[in-house]
Amino acid sequence: LQREEPNYFGAGPAQLPTAVLQQAAKDLVNFKEIGIGAGEISHRSAPGVAIIDDTKAYLKKLWKVPDTHEVFFLQGGGTTGFSSVPTNLVASFVKKTGKVGKPAYVITGSWSKKAYEEAVRLGFDAQVVVNSKTIEGKFGDIPDVDQWKIPSADDTPFVYYCDNETVHGVEFREFPVDHFKGIEIVADMSSNFLSKPVDFSKYGLVFGGAQKNVGIAGVTIYIIKKSLLDHASDEELRKLNVPISPIAFDYPTVVSKDSAYNTIPTFNVHIIELVLEKLIENGGIDAQQEKNIKKSELLYSTLEKYPSVYHLPVTKRARSRMNVVFTIKDGSLDSEFLKEAAAAKLTGLKGHRSVGGMRASLYNAVSLHSVELLADFAEKFAEAHK
Ligand code: PLP
Repeated sequence: LQREEPNYFGAGPAQLPTAVLQQAAKDLVNFKEIGIGAGEISHRSAPGVAIIDDTKAYLKKLWKVPDTHEVFFLQGGGTTGFSSVPTNLVASFVKKTGKVGKPAYVITGSWSKKAYEEAVRLGFDAQVVVNSKTIEGKFGDIPDVDQWKIPSADDTPFVYYCDNETVHGVEFREFPVDHFKGIEIVADMSSNFLSKPVDFSKYGLVFGGAQKNVGIAGVTIYIIKKSLLDHASDEELRKLNVPISPIAFDYPTVVSKDSAYNTIPTFNVHIIELVLEKLIENGGIDAQQEKNIKKSELLYSTLEKYPSVYHLPVTKRARSRMNVVFTIKDGSLDSEFLKEAAAAKLTGLKGHRSVGGMRASLYNAVSLHSVELLADFAEKFAEAHK
């Protein structure tokens, strides 16, 4: 179970700590010496329940999740969140106000755009707070809040945004919560989950797929304010023509069964448990954030040194610490860059097909050493082509 330490900058699924995978591989065969593997035990058996409970407890401890909030796991990926967020949060808004309201979306890249489109597709009367592409002509900035259309609290079940836009490399330093008094804030943190401290008291819901910073594909983690688990009845929702959540994605149902209403991929949750243990061992969230700042600053500052060679399309204030997006000004050099990088064992750098160029994803498990190797390579490449 050995491998050379990878220098892998793929956007997801992403690299995980080798030691975690080695332990997971052992546990896949024989979990805690019980004679069968972590993927073979029932999610309702004592060891299965312990995996779910311990993972929740580690996450609460590590990310300082307050008792006002509940943690639960779902299958289906981040995309399931695009559908389950409006159905569940509108059900709780109807319970509270008797009204359906208009879910509000802040669009700063392709993932928040997809979430908005899914709400519309399901039949919700969704409203756009801001769409940075409409203002700037492209995704690559977060417009000043005075350019946003702030919705009224009495008609808005939630305001949704994507904290880190994986494809466009746009990340919020802080969401302007003070402008949304009385409205529940929902954040997709799929690609910057556990990369920095979060004040959960400001959030109604934070969710994210596991496969970038915390695990492998197959599990999505939700951290929800407990008061939002109080829903209007299905009959009431039907009367108001509100789409009803499929049962496996109905948050109160899943929470009432401790994330095991249906078969949860126990092995995948166990990997999250191992990643969390490692993060705690390595000094916690503050230490991880410090490392992430260091890595991203090193890479951005190296690329900035060569403005004749590299173009950074995202404005400084909105640059992601997780996904560093850049292009080579002479686009004919793209394949040479990727080929030479691969020869230097630096992989996963090709940009998203919709954006082109390069993208270096610097998720939690990517070491500072890997980023130093990449910065060094980018520097040598630029010197040879400036
Ligand atoms: N949200 C963000 C920010 C993402 O980066 C992704 C996928 O990369 C998704 C949602 C969709 O996740 P999934 O493919 O797990 O449905």
